[in-house]
Amino acid sequence: MGAVESPRGWPGVGSQLAARLARLDLRGPRDMLLHLPLRYEDETRLTAIAAARPGFPAQVEGEVVGAEVVLRPRRQLVARISDGSATLVARWLNFYPSQQKQLAPGARVRLFGEVRGGFFGDEMVHPRVRSVLPGEALPAALTPVYPTTAGVGQATLRKLVDRALQTEPLDELLPADWLQRLGLPAFSDALRALHHPAPDADPHALESREHPAWQRMKFEELLVQQLSLRRAYLARRARAAVPLRARARLTAALLDALPFRPTGAQARAWGEIAADLAAAHPMQRLLQGDVGSGKTLVAALAMLQAAENGWQAAMMAPTEILAEQHWKKLSAWLAPLGIDVAWLSGSRRKRAREAELARLASGEVLLAVGTHALIEDPVMLPRLALAVVDEQHRFGVRQRLALREKGDEGRRPHMLMMSATPIPRTLAMTHYADLDVSVLDELPPGRTPIRTRLAAEGRRDQVIARMRAACLGGRQAYWVCPLIEESEALQLQTAQDTYAALVEALPELRIGLVHGRLKNDEKSATMAAFSAGELDVLVATTVIEVGVDVPNASLMVIEHAERFGLAQLHQLRGRVGRGTAESECILIYAQPLSETGRARLKVIYEHTDGFAIAREDLNIRGPGEFVGARQSGVPLLRYADLDADAALIEPARELAEHLLSHEPAVAQALMTRWLGGREALLRA
Ligand code: ADP
Ligand code: MG
Repeated sequence: MGAVESPRGWPGVGSQLAARLARLDLRGPRDMLLHLPLRYEDETRLTAIAAARPGFPAQVEGEVVGAEVVLRPRRQLVARISDGSATLVARWLNFYPSQQKQLAPGARVRLFGEVRGGFFGDEMVHPRVRSVLPGEALPAALTPVYPTTAGVGQATLRKLVDRALQTEPLDELLPADWLQRLGLPAFSDALRALHHPAPDADPHALESREHPAWQRMKFEELLVQQLSLRRAYLARRARAAVPLRARARLTAALLDALPFRPTGAQARAWGEIAADLAAAHPMQRLLQGDVGSGKTLVAALAMLQAAENGWQAAMMAPTEILAEQHWKKLSAWLAPLGIDVAWLSGSRRKRAREAELARLASGEVLLAVGTHALIEDPVMLPRLALAVVDEQHRFGVRQRLALREKGDEGRRPHMLMMSATPIPRTLAMTHYADLDVSVLDELPPGRTPIRTRLAAEGRRDQVIARMRAACLGGRQAYWVCPLIEESEALQLQTAQDTYAALVEALPELRIGLVHGRLKNDEKSATMAAFSAGELDVLVATTVIEVGVDVPNASLMVIEHAERFGLAQLHQLRGRVGRGTAESECILIYAQPLSETGRARLKVIYEHTDGFAIAREDLNIRGPGEFVGARQSGVPLLRYADLDADAALIEPARELAEHLLSHEPAVAQALMTRWLGGREALLRA
């Protein structure tokens, strides 16, 4: 791409600078206003070199007593600066000729940086340097430091911010009574306070972002997020969908035929979904339930409600193994009711696949299960009224949209998304506020709790012996191979090596191997054999991470557990503990453990509840990464912090409601101020 021209034209900003600023999402003066400082530096005071404390930022001023380029240990510019109290060494590993000139002996400079004890006494590495005249005044206030990118200096950013503060309208958009009630300053005051802190501003409050000016900006940011989520929600409700009345024919027949009764949570979620489906606008609901809570049954009931109204429903799953398992389960449940389920996956032979496509296109078959193959071009579901996405976090926005678009134009199918990754409350209120949520907070009865053990790598032989005993006792086991993110080839190699080593160590056991590179029919034959109890041990890469359901498997071994994320470990562990046998999960870890690795293992060892694990995960990783999994267009928060600013979320939500119903023009102005044109992807 060439240089980006700012659409409105940006006085004083050439195309090269504009392109660099665009990398920071800065496309005009208005965006500069909201480009708030990352932190502040205190250049209002000078510290005597002799008094500078190691490890703390300080500003010193002195005369250059010597400067030279030395070549060892590597090329660097080294200067010595003296202020009468002591001499300080400053070094730069990257430098310009202009800097050498600036540091000519006798020159007077101010350095800002952190002092460390070095080989030659106290030194600063890469301090900021500024030439000054003797007696030159110090700045009166803290200096803002802005987020930046290569080739854009702080001085440039400061200049652009200052200009924007003069030329841009700084209208107050929030109602005065709300500001007063929340104790927040006006927009223009807040901006000035952050970009140009007053000389007496509390540096700690600015730094920790507790200053009222920060609160004001964070509140406005949360408000805008609520506005855009709420607008997307209302826009969806204004669209037409096929109302699917609860006729309780097929759904009741399935419930009658099941060997178990739905849990209270399943019944509740099902009630919410059945009511949504009956409405004339599209449902957009997230069904959230811990691993093993029985989401598939709820989805099956929803699909039957479409079928009993003569409409189609499709369920998409992220892996071949999972899609096939769903198809088998649905077929086993529904065949006795006379309902056919089509199965679409990359692995089906062309002839079989074309036959399925024809049956779906003609509307002869109403229900379909598949992988991404469902959203490929030749698939037509002319009467699609319900789209179910299992393990929704594994799909991108575009894939979910593509599934929705499989129906006839103009009509939106109802959407049911399912996830075992629980969403903490603050996240649900912010990033997921455009969804309705049903929760399965109860496991089917008769599950025995899973015992989790940690084993250092050196105790691998003991783990193998334990597995041998378990399998000879009639149980089945998974052995999950280490995750090697850098190289798929290496991951495959490791899986094969592990398999070979286990086959050798355990000749009396029947051992199978599945990994991502196997042909689909080989994969499914191995899974079927394990499922039927013809294999004792299944060695696997993370292809079995999601959804696999083999109730007799009661031992899970995970190698290099420290390399897996918490959600992944929880998912993997959830593959056992599905039957009545006592289940166990052994996490083998290699030493030394990183701090995060140790923290994760501790969490997974101490907790079995998915919600608790997600909460801890959020603590370890922070919301940015957590939300990243959704890959959605929901504007990420730049300033507000879901933990620290949780108290602002509820009022932001209330004010968003109020503005949308009473002051739509103000709501629009706020969204334009913060999002510009970046609102489009939200409607996913
Ligand atoms: P998940 O929520 O992880 O997708 P599944 O839908 O795979 O869970 O259900 C896990 C297992 O529990 C399956 O074998 C399923 O048939 C079984 N199951 C679901 N609901 C119940 C219930 N109410 N009582 C007993 N078993 C159930
Ligand atoms: Mg599932």
